[in-house]
Amino acid sequence: MVSFIDIFNQYSWDEVKQRIYSKTAADVETALGRQSRTLDDFMALISPAAAPYLEPMARLSQQLTQQRFGKTIQLYVPMYLSNECNNICTYCGFSFDNKVRRRTLSATEMLQEATAIRSMGYEHVLLVTGEANQTVHVPYFKNAINLLKKQFAHISMEVQPLDEADYRELITEGLHTVLVYQETYHREDYKKHHPKGKKSNFQYRIETPDRLGRAGVHKIGLGILIGLEDWRTDSFFTALHLQYLERTYWQTKYSISFPRLRPFSGGLEPKVEMVDRELVQLICAWRIFNQEVELSLSTRELPRFRDHVMQLGITSISAGSKTNPGGYAVEPESLEQFEIADERSPAEMARVISSIGYEPVWKDWDVVLS
Ligand code: SF4
Repeated sequence: MVSFIDIFNQYSWDEVKQRIYSKTAADVETALGRQSRTLDDFMALISPAAAPYLEPMARLSQQLTQQRFGKTIQLYVPMYLSNECNNICTYCGFSFDNKVRRRTLSATEMLQEATAIRSMGYEHVLLVTGEANQTVHVPYFKNAINLLKKQFAHISMEVQPLDEADYRELITEGLHTVLVYQETYHREDYKKHHPKGKKSNFQYRIETPDRLGRAGVHKIGLGILIGLEDWRTDSFFTALHLQYLERTYWQTKYSISFPRLRPFSGGLEPKVEMVDRELVQLICAWRIFNQEVELSLSTRELPRFRDHVMQLGITSISAGSKTNPGGYAVEPESLEQFEIADERSPAEMARVISSIGYEPVWKDWDVVLS
């Protein structure tokens, strides 16, 4: 069966990196001047040569975003169901070798959390777990979706990669969206950061969006963990992945996230530091390259930065997030997966969004539209 790995294998990381770093101002101007852009243009827009073009990029990105999405910002929130995990990932507070108290929410606790999240105004929820196949498995997810679909209009999941048949089952149950970040497309570094557990299987992970596409999921979220490797090269591979998916599974929608490595208990220092200006460049490059894709920003980023980039290309943000299981109502003091940089409540965030002339959207989709 054909999958993205067949395309990915035709590329060399070093050659791609070299092509990006050799882009010139003329390449950037050509990319900016076109009506629709190629992957080669995307390379120019994320290259160091584009740094002096940040202002025209931001203007164009803002204009293209407003044309496609209007002046709206979708709000979402994660609900952590479990911090049990059998994997070792060097950058995560829930890693198996990190000695923290583990907890998986029961059905009653999920409902308590759901009530707290609903009271903040949310109608979309993102369910998050670690990878612990003994306790957090497909029947557990089925049960969670079943319980929570009565409370929320849209259910997303960020859990371990599953088989196509499992996805089909969960979609039938009421799952709409799955986020599965590759973390890095650099094979050797991927191995270094995932030394133990099922997540160390690079091929199974990179083929997950294919399995989701074949299962007919409504939306797939892609992304890399910025800080593990050269973000420009990793972003190129994300764009290559997205382009392949859009052409192959054209009925599915897509979103891109931009998580930068954040401090956590037992923390890993970023190998590659990305400064704010570079993240703005990346967000604008994505929008100029692709006008359909949703661009999402989490509470990992500081308030001032979030308020600024919301007007440049971002279409959805989280607010009031807790990254610990039970963090909203059941056990607010347990250990977080990573530290939150923007602590503002959803209501405060909605006021900020309105104050810059945008409309906060709590619900943009209903099951009757599927
Ligand atoms: S990133 Fe996910 S799989 Fe890795 S340790 Fe954290 S929760 Fe587990």
